[in-house]
Amino acid sequence: MSMPTIKQIRAYTVRGGGADYHDQGEGHWIDSQISTPMSKYPDYRMTRRSFGLNVLGTLVVEVEASDGTVGFAVTTAGEIGAFIVEKHLARFVEGQRVTDIEKIWDQMFHATLFYGRKGVVLNTISGVDLALWDLLGKIRDEPVHALLGGPVRDELQFYATGARPDLAKKMGFIGGKMPLKHGPAEGDTGLEKNIAQLAEMRESVGPDFWLMFDCWMSLDLDYATRLAQRGREYGLKWIEEALPPDDYWGYADLKKRVPPGMLVTTGEHEATRWGFRMLLEMGCCDIIQPDVGWCGGVTELLKISALADAHNTLVVPHGSSVYSYHFVVTRTNSPFSEFLMMAPQADEVVPMFNPLLLDEPVPENGRMRASSLDAPGFGVRLNPDSDLARPYTH
Ligand SMILES: [Mg+2]
Repeated sequence: MSMPTIKQIRAYTVRGGGADYHDQGEGHWIDSQISTPMSKYPDYRMTRRSFGLNVLGTLVVEVEASDGTVGFAVTTAGEIGAFIVEKHLARFVEGQRVTDIEKIWDQMFHATLFYGRKGVVLNTISGVDLALWDLLGKIRDEPVHALLGGPVRDELQFYATGARPDLAKKMGFIGGKMPLKHGPAEGDTGLEKNIAQLAEMRESVGPDFWLMFDCWMSLDLDYATRLAQRGREYGLKWIEEALPPDDYWGYADLKKRVPPGMLVTTGEHEATRWGFRMLLEMGCCDIIQPDVGWCGGVTELLKISALADAHNTLVVPHGSSVYSYHFVVTRTNSPFSEFLMMAPQADEVVPMFNPLLLDEPVPENGRMRASSLDAPGFGVRLNPDSDLARPYTH
């Protein structure tokens, strides 16, 4: 069987909502006061854009095969990512067979080790990897989930991340995860405000709906422990990303300190099987939350997930829309999914990467049929109205 080769790879950037879902306008809940590692500086406390959360922007990677088929993917890496793709990674992609995904990943990762390993380089490698899976799916006329072994269940079930768990409950989601507002620098007063927000939300959603706090790397061990202990009274289901990602030792301690039954989750800013090996072997958490657009792509997520399964740890990928859905539906140790509420007031369901992708499926009543993922590749199209720029060529 003759397999097409990859003729060209191209990298574009685009501003505004898209894969860089932090790149939103004024008044969006995602840019409201949220506790971050920068909250200790009052100048950078009130919005996350103030310290540059949206600087990167979206990276769009396109791969074109010798038969004319084009695969693509989007992630967060912007112009830096475009440079890395065009000036460095292109050599490992062009001329290869479209099935050479494992070899291309290995070469991209090892050729960038001297400046990569995590962060924006792995976001970029993830974008190339996802584009290659999209291309392979299109050439084989199969959805990516079929290439990964096929669905293990008929539908996906979602919890919602956003400022309004009370509205998420009405929309049929199984839980709501709120951004934590106040960090340790705001002392006991801030802690009481956080607990008051949780109490108010619990009052509104009733006893059974899941409520979680996303702490976005912003706490210390003492504060996280107190938040968890106080949160127990209001049925806090899990405490997410409480500590900086490099503090594996802190996470291992936190997991021992939280009340029985409360879950510790983390990993959206972790990358590769080696990063997750630390979290898993050190007993840092109950659920790992790799972002398939940041952790190394589907190729690496398969390895991370297998390692987690052997450690009896669930994998509930962070955000990432169709790139997560095609994976989650194929894994028994990924029993539910995250949906990021990207409407500015978190009051309606809109596609997560709106307006960058077309045909992006969204949950209805908190659920999504596996059959809605049956189009070839990842099943989405790049919106032709997107204002793409190609800052580098090769
Ligand atoms: Mg999170």
